Amino acid sequence: MLGKRHVYCLLIVFLAFFSVTSSSWANTELKQEGRFVDVEDGHWAKNEIDFLANKQIIHGYEVGGTVQFRPDQMVTRAEAAKMIVSALGQTEWKNGTLSFQDVPASHWAHGWIARAVQLGIMGGDGTTTFRPNDSLSRAEMSVVLVNAFSLPSKGAAVEGAVVFKDTAGHWALRHINRLYYHGIASGRDGQFFPKDDISRAEFATLLARTLDDQFRLPLPDLIEQGKTNIQGTVTTSSLNVRQTPSATGTLVGTLKRGQVVDVYDINGYWAKIAYNGQFAYVHKTYLKLRNMAGSPVKGRIIVVDAGHGGKDSGAMSGGANEKTTVLEVAKLLKEKLEKAGATVVMTRETDVYPTLQDRVDMAKDNYAEMFVSIHTNSATNPSAKGAEVYYDSSTNPNAEESKKLAQYIQEEIVRMANMVDRGVKNSGLYVLRNNNVTSVLVELGFISNSEDRAKLTSAEYQNIYAEAIYQGIVKYYTSQ
Ligand SMILES: [Zn+2]
Repeated sequence: MLGKRHVYCLLIVFLAFFSVTSSSWANTELKQEGRFVDVEDGHWAKNEIDFLANKQIIHGYEVGGTVQFRPDQMVTRAEAAKMIVSALGQTEWKNGTLSFQDVPASHWAHGWIARAVQLGIMGGDGTTTFRPNDSLSRAEMSVVLVNAFSLPSKGAAVEGAVVFKDTAGHWALRHINRLYYHGIASGRDGQFFPKDDISRAEFATLLARTLDDQFRLPLPDLIEQGKTNIQGTVTTSSLNVRQTPSATGTLVGTLKRGQVVDVYDINGYWAKIAYNGQFAYVHKTYLKLRNMAGSPVKGRIIVVDAGHGGKDSGAMSGGANEKTTVLEVAKLLKEKLEKAGATVVMTRETDVYPTLQDRVDMAKDNYAEMFVSIHTNSATNPSAKGAEVYYDSSTNPNAEESKKLAQYIQEEIVRMANMVDRGVKNSGLYVLRNNNVTSVLVELGFISNSEDRAKLTSAEYQNIYAEAIYQGIVKYYTSQ
């Protein structure tokens, strides 16, 4: 049973509670209506402002029973400290000490600034002033957001990129780029305006985007075609798109044959692409990767397979043997490809014999994107002569791509080495059907034919064969 004294106590607690809430009417009302009087429906930053207000990160100004947000008012450095500290779920540090001459203990934001400095968000540049009442610039805002939310790098390549013409060499370039590539900040007409003050509405927008993915800018709007140097064309009827670079990553969609995607990064077998405004991953075996600028083969991983070797001489005739000729051509091809920036994997560089499975394994272990095997032909009829290139459509999933590459190489060999054109042929040769990537087997000519043999054993022609294969590869990578 409650005594009279207890009732009084409850009453006092109730009154105290009520008086506190009554002074916060503005916020309660705001939460219910989700609206500031000066942020009408349709205001470009309304959703972001409401989001932050509901989280009590930003507050309005109470004026005669209404609440204003003052979206166009500039944000001061002191206000920024308070909002960022609040956004991090931290509180002001009332007893924190500051050595800034211009932030006395009596300054309204002293505790917020002390916390911001303690958290390493602001004021870490060793200066003796904080300039609490100065406006925050867009460059400063970039640094503050990156520091406060530890936004990760999107890669060294984009970190130093000049995305905006007015940020080249800017002290905050890395921070500005990081916001850009996270879909948090964009510019206008190719400029970022780093020195400009930031308004409360702009600040709210950037902060909301940082806190919640739903507000982020869609990547295709930010990273227009050409910003990345690699495009991938889907080479299979249906290619799984995953949230993470793993065969067990959450499936977010599929791409169809012929679709073209921007590739932002390649790690092992996984290509990082933009998909529906987000980064996602696909298995690169089913993408034809093309460089949009510079050398068409730069960065491409190509296996050059000199057939036979060691105990296996291959075809022999008239004192010549296949294994020697094809190794010479393979070495010259490697040189040309590497000079153009490709990563070349040789299945052999000396007179040794790797098994056919060893050669396929080398391609897979090195995340190869193309496999080119080099051979010479032989026939009992010495008049048989000419060049031909094989591809496989029995089990190689990139049969169509392989056929295109075969055609380009065949054309170049016939033209440059003046060979009889025996065409391209579909055949389930081991190294073709056991590879998944674009794979061809080149028969340079007939070692059993005296005319072909003269070319196959000549240093001059060996270089022409290598050049022809190289040009065929370049044509493949420069074609759609
Ligand atoms: Zn052979």
